[in-house]
Amino acid sequence: MDKGVAVKRILLKLSGETLMGDQGFGINQEACQQVAHYLHKIHGMGLQVAVVIGGGNIFRGINLRATGLPRTSADHMGMLATLLNGIALQQALMAAGAKACVMSALECPKVAESYNWGKALQYLEEGTILIFVGGTGNPYFTTDTAAALRASEIHADILFKATKVDGIYSRDPLKHSDAVKYDRISYSQVLAEKLQVMDATAIALCRSNQIPIFVFNMRRLLENDLEPVLKDFSHGTLVDDYENKISGT
Ligand code: UDP
Repeated sequence: MDKGVAVKRILLKLSGETLMGDQGFGINQEACQQVAHYLHKIHGMGLQVAVVIGGGNIFRGINLRATGLPRTSADHMGMLATLLNGIALQQALMAAGAKACVMSALECPKVAESYNWGKALQYLEEGTILIFVGGTGNPYFTTDTAAALRASEIHADILFKATKVDGIYSRDPLKHSDAVKYDRISYSQVLAEKLQVMDATAIALCRSNQIPIFVFNMRRLLENDLEPVLKDFSHGTLVDDYENKISGT
């Protein structure tokens, strides 16, 4: 299916859970190696690859509010969790033979380079797989928003968002058997219907900067079945402003 997106530079948003494997928590070395292997493979297909990794396998700030911690402190801890994941993924990528660099929005120079836009572009051009960590560097945001921000900054052709389901549905398909899957949907419809795929800030940022989003099942990444996703955007949902494209506005 030709959906009109020519892809050379991608931003892949991986939730921390991708690195968790079958465990209930933390980092599973085998899952890390699998993810690294396929990222290396995608890179070998001639794509420039940047990743934003989440931290939900270690913890999410929002869950810690129940413990009485202030949200800002909890979010700092959440952002630090993404650093742990980034370091693990970088090591796995290097072991797989890839060049990989971790760039952090939270300054932590002994363990990761500080985020720098110009350097990030240079690394991508040079064939280094970039792992962005530390989210946006600010509390009250998510790594989905960080993904939309970095995708905009590096002029990614598309943001790939790996989730637990095969795309965007009218309702949660894990709870409702009558949920209908969309092949393609506009940013505005995702926002209007409050579809739970990425937070509204991330969707709005992609809409403003015309970054298409492709939502697919993270299992494809772990089972080495990403080619149909990358080549013709099948097995998922494409989010863009196609309604405007159709009406010529
Ligand atoms: N976080 C934050 N600011 C950001 C990105 C993330 O404060 O810009 C914190 C927030 O507490 C979040 C945690 O980091 O819960 C982990 O990120 P996220 O929940 O997005 O991870 P994922 O669900 O993708 O694994």
